[in-house]
Parts: sequence; C-alpha cells; structure tokens
Amino acid sequence: MTPDKVNTRLLAVCDAMLASEERLTRADQAIGDGDHGVGMARGFAAAREALTTRCPVTAGDPFKTAGMAILMKAGGASGAVFGSFFTAMGKGLTGTSLDAAGFVQGLRDGQAAVEARGGAKPGDKTMLDALAPAIAAAATQPALEVAMAAAARAAAEGAEGTAAMIATTGKAKTLGERSRGHMDPGAISLSIILNALAGPTAD
Ligand code: ADP
Ligand code: MG
Repeated sequence: MTPDKVNTRLLAVCDAMLASEERLTRADQAIGDGDHGVGMARGFAAAREALTTRCPVTAGDPFKTAGMAILMKAGGASGAVFGSFFTAMGKGLTGTSLDAAGFVQGLRDGQAAVEARGGAKPGDKTMLDALAPAIAAAATQPALEVAMAAAARAAAEGAEGTAAMIATTGKAKTLGERSRGHMDPGAISLSIILNALAGPTAD
C-alpha cells in the first residue's frame, strides 16, 4: 500500500472516530469520567487537519503525523496512549510501501510503546485487550488487506470481551467489580480505528 493510500485510510480513521464521539462518551460515562469521546474527538480532529496538510513520503509518515497531533491535542490518559501508539507504529515503517509484515510489526511496536508508557498489560481491561488479539489475528495473514480485515474483526471481539473483565488500571480501577458488564472505552476506540484502517470492505 502506498503512503498516499495509508494517508487516505488514516483520514477515514479520523472520520470514524469523530463520528463515534457520542458512543465513546457514553462508554466512558459508564466506567470512567466521561471525557473519552471529547478527548478523542479533539485528537482526531487535529490529526485530520495534519493529515490533509502534510505529504507522506514513507508508509509510516501518516501514522507519525496522526500520532503527534493526538499527543499534542487529545489530552487525558488516552491522548498519551493513542498518541504513543500511532507514533510508535509509524516510526519503524520507513519504506515506501506498507505490506502485511510491516503492518503487524507496526502494531507490535505500538503495543510495546503503550505498555512502556502506561505500564498496563493485556487483561487489565484497556485498549490493549483489543490490540493484542488484533495483532495475533493479523500475524496469520500474508496479504495486507486480509491482515487488516482480520485485525479489525479480532479487535472488535477483543473489545466485546472487555465487558467481562475487571479494570485494574486507569479511572475504572476504582470501580473494581462494578466495571464488569461495560466495555472498555479505549478498547472500543482501538476497534473503531482498526476497522476504518481496514477500509470499506471490512465492515
Ligand atoms: P482518562 O482515563 O484520562 O479519563 P480517557 O477516558 O480518554 O482518559 O481514556 C480512557 C481509556 O484509555 C481507557 O478506556 C483505556 O483503554 C485507555 N487507557 C488508560 N490507561 C491506559 C494504560 N495505562 N494502558 C493502555 N490503555 C490505557
Ligand atoms: Mg476518561
């Protein structure tokens, strides 16, 4: 996939996140402080703006551009989490074409950055519980578009699965047992992101 097409896909990610603001607000009202929708909308609006004004050279450039905008504008825990995720994902993608192996490596780099920054692990009821299964699913697919679709499906299932978990990190931690029954807001976001990244055919 060319850097231009990656850029176009990331614009679709921004649109999908902006369209999901209310859903993310409701999800964070249930087990957090209710600011996830507003924070993500702020971050992805800034990312959208940056993506329309920069010309990508490498496949990683659009991810870095989006990540930096999110880091600067989104705020909250998730601003750091999703900003680091995109920035780290883009860093290693120095080639002029994105393939399945690069996509999987980028996701792994993103996961490592999120874990290093926030100290959470899969199982803690965060976006990592959508991301980790997405990586595992994508890693079994040698073709990029198929890998992206597989990642999107697994992320959606992973996000659904967070409803059964008890939060051990972030604001939902104080709810303990009461966080059960509600999906993690950041896991929903990660699933929306990977679904839009996979393109219109992944729906
Ligand atoms: P805040 O917690 O500052 O209110 P948001 O409500 O915007 O931030 O985002 C909360 C989401 O961020 C959570 O649902 C979770 O998925 C994600 N998150 C928070 N802390 C971490 C962390 N340490 N590692 C991974 N994801 C995290
Ligand atoms: Mg919040």
